[in-house]
Amino acid sequence: MTEMLASYAAGSWYTAPDEGTVVVDAATGDPVARVSTTGLDTRAMVDHARLVGGPGLRRLTFQARAAALKELATYLDANKAAYHELSLATGATRRDSTGDIDGGIGTTFVFSSRGRRELPDGFLLTDGDVEPIGKEGTFVGQHVYTSLRGVVLQVNAFNFPVWGMLEKLAPAVLAGVPTIVKPATQTAYLTAAVMRDIIASGALPEGAVQFLCGSAGDVLDHLGGEDVVAFTGSATTAAVLRGNDAVTARAARFNAETDSLNCSILGPDATAGTPEFDLYIKEVSREITTKAGQRCTCIRRAMVPESIVDDVIAGLRTRLDKVVVGNPRNETVTMGALVSLHQRDEVRDAVTGLGRAAETVYGDPMWVEPVDADPERGAFMAPVVLLATGDRPEPHEIEAFGPVTTLIPYGAGADLGALAARGGGSLVGSIVSYDPDFVREAVSGAAPYHGRLLVLDRDCAAESTGHGTPMPQLVHGGPGRAGGGEELGGMRAVRHFMQRTALEGSPAVIAALVGGS
Ligand code: NAP
Repeated sequence: MTEMLASYAAGSWYTAPDEGTVVVDAATGDPVARVSTTGLDTRAMVDHARLVGGPGLRRLTFQARAAALKELATYLDANKAAYHELSLATGATRRDSTGDIDGGIGTTFVFSSRGRRELPDGFLLTDGDVEPIGKEGTFVGQHVYTSLRGVVLQVNAFNFPVWGMLEKLAPAVLAGVPTIVKPATQTAYLTAAVMRDIIASGALPEGAVQFLCGSAGDVLDHLGGEDVVAFTGSATTAAVLRGNDAVTARAARFNAETDSLNCSILGPDATAGTPEFDLYIKEVSREITTKAGQRCTCIRRAMVPESIVDDVIAGLRTRLDKVVVGNPRNETVTMGALVSLHQRDEVRDAVTGLGRAAETVYGDPMWVEPVDADPERGAFMAPVVLLATGDRPEPHEIEAFGPVTTLIPYGAGADLGALAARGGGSLVGSIVSYDPDFVREAVSGAAPYHGRLLVLDRDCAAESTGHGTPMPQLVHGGPGRAGGGEELGGMRAVRHFMQRTALEGSPAVIAALVGGS
C-alpha cells in the first residue's frame, strides 16, 4: 500500500492508523502517499513546543540561532537532489522546483547571514533610540523585543511545499520561537521529505520544529495570546481561521497571505519595438507558465493601453506558442501540470466566470495535448489569455489559480491607481515603462494597494528578479484581499515573532538591561 506520511510530534514520529487521504501524482494520477492526522495529539505538540522547543531555542543567542540556520540550510542543500525528484510529482518542472526548493534553502541562508550581521550575541533586541521623557534626564524609555513564549503554527498552501515552510521557519528560529508546520495535504509528501532531513540534521534544538502532516484537527483550540498563526492559502480559509476563538477571543497573532489579483501595467510609451514592450510580453508569459500559473503573485490582470492591445496579443501568442505542456519528467516540457484534477476543474470554472466579462484570445481551457501524459489522468491545461470586453467586475474579483491572465485595456487619461485598486489589495504589482512621469503617477496611485511594486525597464531588467518572486530582503504580503499580512522584509520578519515592550526607568537601569543584550 502507498506510504502513510508521518507527523513529527512531541519528539517522535507518529503514523496514523487509518487509510487517510490518498494523494496522487499531478501528471500521471498515480498514488504518491497517504495523509492522515487521525489520533494525533495536538495538545501534546503545543505543550512540547512551549515546554521544550521554546526554552531550547531561547538558550541560544541570536548569533547561535543564526549559526544553527546555516547548518540547517547547508544540510538541506546537500540533500536537495531527492527533493527535486519528488517535486516532479507536484506537476512542477525542474525549473519551477528551483524556486520552491533552492529558493527555500536560499532564503534560510539569507536569514542566517543577515542574522549574523545584524543581530546581537544576546537575547533581546532594541528598537530605536532611547527616548528622553523626564525634563531632568533621569527617566527614559527604550523599546525592546523579546521572544514570544508560545508557538508559531504555520498553515501552508499547496504550491510552495518547501519555500512556504522555510520562509516562515527561518525568522521564527532567529526569533527564538518554536514552530509547528502544517503543510497542504496535496503536496505534503515533499514537505515531509524535507522535514525528515530537518529533524535528521540535528541543527535545531528538539521541539524547535514539529510536523502536523494532514488535517489541522483541533490544534487551534490550544493556541492563545503568546502564539502566532501564520497562514498562506485562500481568502476563504483565512476567513475561517481568523474567526477562530484562538484569534478572536484569546488574541493569538494571525498573519495571512491569501489570493490576490495582481496587476501588471504597461505604459503608453512602451509600444511595440521598445525594450519595455518586449519585457512586458516576456514577463506576462513567464508569469502564467511558471508553476502553471499557480503562484499567488502571478499576473492576473494585465493592463495595457487600448491602442496597443492587438500588438500585445500578437506578442503573447508568439511566445506562448513555444510553450510545451506535459509531464515534467520529459526534458522538452516547459510547463507542467496543475496540482490536481480538482484544481484544474476549479480553474476551468473560474475561466467560465471570467468569460462573462472577457473573450478568450489565446488558448482553450478545455483542450490540451500534453507531451508524455494522459490528459484524462494528469491535471493539464493550456495557457489561456482573456481580453476584457467591458467594464465588468469579474476580472478584478475572480482568481483563476492557473495559467490564466486577463488583458484589461485602458484609455488615455485613465486613473490607473483606481484600476489597480479594483483588485481589492494585492501582493504585488508591476509597472513596465521608461517614462518617469508615467511611472511616478502609476506608483503613487497603486502603492497603497500593494505590498510590493516592481518598476521594470531596460535599465534594471538584466538583474530584476521578476514580478512574481518574493525576496527575503523585501516585504511579502499585501493589504485587503491579499490578507493584510506581512512576511519576509529582512530582519523585520524576526520581529513579527517577538513581543515589543516599552521599558521605562533611569538611564542607568535601561543601559544595564539593554547593554546586557
Ligand atoms: P487553501 O485551500 O486555503 O488551503 C491552505 C491551507 O489551509 C492548507 O494547508 C489546508 O489544509 C488548510 N486548511 C484548509 N481548511 C482549513 C481549516 N478549516 N482549518 C485549518 N486549516 C485549513 O489554499 P490552497 O488551495 O492550498 O492554496 C491556493 C490558494 O492559496 C490560492 O488562492 C493562492 O492565491 C493562495 N496562495 C497565497 C500565497 C501568498 O503568499 N499570499 C501563496 C500561495 C498560495 P489541507 O490541504 O489539509 O486542506
